[in-house]
Parts: sequence; structure tokens; C-alpha cells
Amino acid sequence: MRALIAQDRLGAWLASKYPEAHAVRNDGQLYAYVQALKERHMRKAPPLGKVLFDGRLQVVKHALGTHTTVSRVQGGRLKASREIRIASLFRDAPAPFLRMIAVHELAHMKEAEHDKAFYQLCTHMEPDYHQLEFDTRLYLTQLDATQRACSRRADALQPSARDTMQ
Ligand SMILES: [Zn+2]
Repeated sequence: MRALIAQDRLGAWLASKYPEAHAVRNDGQLYAYVQALKERHMRKAPPLGKVLFDGRLQVVKHALGTHTTVSRVQGGRLKASREIRIASLFRDAPAPFLRMIAVHELAHMKEAEHDKAFYQLCTHMEPDYHQLEFDTRLYLTQLDATQRACSRRADALQPSARDTMQ
């Protein structure tokens, strides 16, 4: 893997392994997508509240997804509402990576810890879960490397830009 990164080929390798994009463009479509997964695999879990893309998640919380339970009293009864947030970068990620993070956050509705029961539920929903989680990390490494390369290039451009202005 290090060799692939070093040779700047990780991006091309990932793109050829995961050519499939997805059509989930907004929060409404994301809700429908996660809801469909839930219907198929976790019908008995409590209903989903909000599901949304969050552009600040990765930056502020260093997380790719979060799940929270908001409890409030409604009509004399305690009503729990589940909220799932998924980092916005998954909007443009290959389809299997979005499925991986959706499965991960859904599984947390039932299993709080990253333990054996949790991963069993993940692989029940997505048999290739472990490989996808690993490859998502590679994808993030590659995104990060691309961003670094871009800012390095921007830095390199500055002196000549200044030269032009003088
Ligand atoms: Zn987790």
C-alpha cells in the first residue's frame, strides 16, 4: 500500500476497483437510502429520525459519521428519535463506501460498542463490510494526499505569482 501511495497510484487503483458512483445527492435521498437499508435488515429497530450529510463532521469531530438518540417527552410519553449524520465527503465517494458508513451508523442503533456483536450486524447487512471499511480508509488517505499535493502546489505557485505582481 505504501508503495502505491508513494507512486501516486492509489487513486487510480481505487477508482478501478470502485468505479460505481451513487445517486444520493441530498439529505432527502440520503434518508431514503438509509431507511431502505433499515427496512431490509433492521426492521425492528426504532424508527429513524433525521438522516443528513454534515460538512463539518470530519473537520470538527474527526468522524465520518455519528448517531445520536434525542429523547423528548411527547404526549406524556418519552419518545426517542434517532439521528444519523454522514460526512459530506461520502456524497462523492464510490457507492460501496457510502453503504459501508450507512451500515456502520445503522448498526449503532442496536449495538453501541465496536464489539463482536456490532461487527456481526455490519457484516450481516454488508458481507464485504471489513474490506470496505479498510478501503474507505485508503480512500481517505488518498483524498488527504491529494489535498496536500494541491496545497503544496499552491505554495509553490505563490513566489512566481508575487513576481508577476511586482
Ligand atoms: Zn462506530
